[in-house]
Amino acid sequence: MSGPHEALADAWPCIFRPMRREQMLIGQAYTDAADGRTFERRSPYSGEVIATYPEAGLADVERAAADARKTFEDGRWSGAPAKVRAAILRKTADVLRARLDDFAANLVAEVGKPISAAKGEVQGAAEVLEYYAALALDLHGEAYSAQAADALGLVLREPVGVVGVIIPWNFPLVLACWKLGPALAAGCTVVLKPSHWTSGSAILLARALSDSGLPPGVLNVVTGEAENGAVIGQALCQSPLVDKIAFTGSTATGKKVMQTCAQTLKRVSLELGGKSPNVVFADAPAIDAAVAGAFFGIFMNAGQVCQAGSRLLVQRSIHAEFVDKLVAMTRGKLRLGDPAQPSTTLGPLVSEPQLRRVVGYLDQGKSCGAVLKTGGGRPADPALARGHFVEPTIFDAVPADATIAQEEIFGPVLSVLPFEDEADALRLANHTTYGLAAAIWTRDLNVAVRLAKGIRAGTVWVNAYHGTGVANQMPYGGYRQSGIGRELGRAGLDEYLETKSVQIKLG
Ligand code: NDP
Repeated sequence: MSGPHEALADAWPCIFRPMRREQMLIGQAYTDAADGRTFERRSPYSGEVIATYPEAGLADVERAAADARKTFEDGRWSGAPAKVRAAILRKTADVLRARLDDFAANLVAEVGKPISAAKGEVQGAAEVLEYYAALALDLHGEAYSAQAADALGLVLREPVGVVGVIIPWNFPLVLACWKLGPALAAGCTVVLKPSHWTSGSAILLARALSDSGLPPGVLNVVTGEAENGAVIGQALCQSPLVDKIAFTGSTATGKKVMQTCAQTLKRVSLELGGKSPNVVFADAPAIDAAVAGAFFGIFMNAGQVCQAGSRLLVQRSIHAEFVDKLVAMTRGKLRLGDPAQPSTTLGPLVSEPQLRRVVGYLDQGKSCGAVLKTGGGRPADPALARGHFVEPTIFDAVPADATIAQEEIFGPVLSVLPFEDEADALRLANHTTYGLAAAIWTRDLNVAVRLAKGIRAGTVWVNAYHGTGVANQMPYGGYRQSGIGRELGRAGLDEYLETKSVQIKLG
């Protein structure tokens, strides 16, 4: 094949054979859409068609939901011994690692993710499946035997039923596993609807699960494009055969999901957007580490991260020096280019609409009274012209109410706001409708703890951004308009369980 992905094509010809033509998974079989329609996914880097997928219609969604329902009720998965469910999840993790190059090449191709980050995502997905394999073995209820001599109370935990899993495109593999891991560990069956930009990850994951022994019908995958993606998603939310929707995506879509689910009173968990504050005090343990944290916080995955540290709050006494260092790092370290090349550290945005959206925010930033420190447009390099690239951008002295300080941009665009003291930092940190994540950089444990308690967000890091090495064990989710419910940890498993009280009167 010719074109800019030649390096990858040589390494992983199975992924880059011309025109991958994929099928979705319904019940026993990989299948086309009932009406035979398909759609294409083009590379966000080169514009080349990388694959075609079935364009599912309502009939396909109904069939998938019916298969998931039938399979849930026949007990082949919900009634399977925990050790069987755990073994299949563990085996799938092994398969992901064995096929790491294929999975990573697909992420490079469909998301535009730099290859090293793509490999990291595959490893992260394998680890979360292993974590929930272990929790499957430990799933248990409670017994009350000491309250009355002639009575026994049992609290049983049961799978919630059929789960509709709706996920976005930014981490299509790991976010699928955040939901499939606990859902399958609990004994649920699933209909997975990936974003139409990233159907490939879902299909590869389904194959890994099937090849690891997941019984047919337990996982169904329906793929569909653009407006039809919303139609399929809404059909899952409406279906009386589905008991719960587990959704990750934008806050606007999350609200629609919740509204529709209300009609059948489905359980719903929502992982939504954010505008997370990264708060740096003058006594941060090492300024250079905090600069690197701010850099990583906003530019990882080209800023297409729900928990991105998109509002950098810096104490005024170090503000000028800090911003200078961050600008220097941004100009010096980020390499825009072919995501398949190991030297690339900033890939294209996932799609043309996303590019237009981010460029719109750049225009707003230039007219809101902020100071543009670096970036601010599309790169001039003609080699990047076909990709959906934007320059990594830093706006300083951003007014707290400016659109770029309030709305989720989902691109490599940072808003810097100086603050005076702890009270000012807390006020600014909470000055948003979101509440997904936050970070605090300080040597003072009292300040760190006071702020960690005061910030209304589901995750707070101290002297780190995006994580500290404790990962899958920690519950993850949003306060306020960043969501409802929790993923990961034991709390993540609880989202897929019903609680039943059984009261036994002894004779
Ligand atoms: P969207 O909310 O547009 O889409 C998310 C998913 O929902 C996609 O699969 C999409 O399908 C589907 N969908 C679209 N419309 C509807 C609808 N009316 N009913 C049901 N499902 C629907 O988000 P994006 O895919 O654009 O992802 C980016 C957003 O996701 C960001 O804004 C970010 O805030 C959020 N996000 C949050 C995360 C978190 O953990 N809190 C993590 C990652 C992202 P299709 O793509 O086919 O249209």
